[in-house]
Order: sequence, then C-alpha cells, then structure tokens
Amino acid sequence: VSRSDEELLAAVKGGDASATEELLARHEREIYRFGLRMCGNEEDARDVLQETLLAAFRNLSGFRGDARLSTWLYQIARSFCIKQRRPHSDVRAEPIEPRVAHQVPSGEAGADERVHARQIGELLSAEIAKLPDGYREALVLRDVEGLSAEEAAAVAGVEVGALKSRLHRARLELRAHLAERLGERAVGGPPPCAELAQELSAYADADVDQATCTKIEEHLARCPRCAGACEALKRTVSLCRRIPGDEVPPAVRAAVRQALHSLAPV
Ligand SMILES: [Zn+2]
Repeated sequence: VSRSDEELLAAVKGGDASATEELLARHEREIYRFGLRMCGNEEDARDVLQETLLAAFRNLSGFRGDARLSTWLYQIARSFCIKQRRPHSDVRAEPIEPRVAHQVPSGEAGADERVHARQIGELLSAEIAKLPDGYREALVLRDVEGLSAEEAAAVAGVEVGALKSRLHRARLELRAHLAERLGERAVGGPPPCAELAQELSAYADADVDQATCTKIEEHLARCPRCAGACEALKRTVSLCRRIPGDEVPPAVRAAVRQALHSLAPV
C-alpha cells in the first residue's frame, strides 16, 4: 500500500530520504508540465520545477493540510511562473512538422493515433502559450491538470466565478485558433453558434467575471451545439496530458535531487 502525501510529508520531516524520493516521483511531473504550459519553454519550466520544489521543501510547515499537496505546489509554481514570465514576443511557437517517418515504428498498432496526438499536442502547446495569461492559467489548471474549479481558483488567487469565466473564454479563443490552424474537422465538434459570440461581446473587457460566467453557463445549458463544441475542445486539450516531451528530463531530475540534498535537514 502506498503512503498518502500526508504520511510521506511526516516521514520527510523525520528525515526519511525514501519518502522525499516518493514525493518527488509523485509530483514533479505535474509541476514540470504546468511550468511548460505556463512559460512556453523547457528552460523556464526546468527553473520553475527546481525553485518550486526547493521552496516547498524549505517550507514544509507552510503546507496547512487543508488543501491537497498538489494544489499547494501549483500555487508555489505559479508564483515562480509569474516571475519567470517573459514578454509575449519571446514565446516561441514551434512550427509543426510531420515527423511520421522517423519517430514512429511502422506497422505498429495505434501508431497513427499517437502521431496524431503528438502533432495535435505540439500545436496545442504553441496555441496555449499564446493565450492571455489569466486565460492560459485557467485552461491549464482545469483542462490540462484536471483541478476542480475551486482548486484552480485557489491556485490562481481569484473567485470561482472569475476562474470559470476565464476558462470559458480561454476555451472559445483556443478553439477559434485551432480551427484556424487545423480546420474545423480536425478540432472536432460543431463550432459555437453566433449567438454565444454576440452575448459575450457585451462583456468583452469589463470586469464582470461573474456575469460572464453565468451568461456562458446559461447558454451552454440550452444550446446543444455550443455544449458539444465545449466538450470536443475539452477532449482535445486533454491530449496535452500525454505529450511525450512532457517527461521531466533526467538531467533536471538529477539537478533537483542534488539541490534538495544540499538543503539543511528540516
Ligand atoms: Zn450556442
């Protein structure tokens, strides 16, 4: 039976090195992936991962235990992502190239699907990186990392209504960009109806998060077309969880462990 996060934390405080390793193995990937999506490049994601874990282990008593450990870690990682954030023009959107020939062994079952997932994943990453900061954060926390709306709002430091409103807008914006790049068919699901866009334009940039949230949710409840578009986009975004490049590189794993090792015992 594997130990819970709480049990592992207690063991870490007691100097159990295997508990440290177990906690790292459990959480480092999600923090790295979050950094990748938020910062848009591996170099910054590596720094975010390292800074986050060091800060967390230096301040284990700061974890209250009233939230999940991963929520606390995302919160710390978020603060480093903001520090790390570069001007938008520096975010590189990698060109998408078909890598079918040299990356996938031929004749293997499901190969096409994996290639498709990888290509969509790369395109998604690039498009997510271009979303406005608040939208990107909401989308990554909810649709990529799978946090609840309440958890995501806590990490972002906003009201739940604001989080949901940003999330809906992020999905709509991302869907429009993907449809532009890939074509409607590849995105899957119907495009949202014109009525939704019209309703939303009334709330374009004013600070009316709760009103926007209510408006969109009312619309989704009565419009099967927009609800379908939303579901299809969620499925597409969830592909982000399976992008091969998201694994923490071995050199980064080693560096993190070395840095943690050099910390004074708690
Ligand atoms: Zn609609």
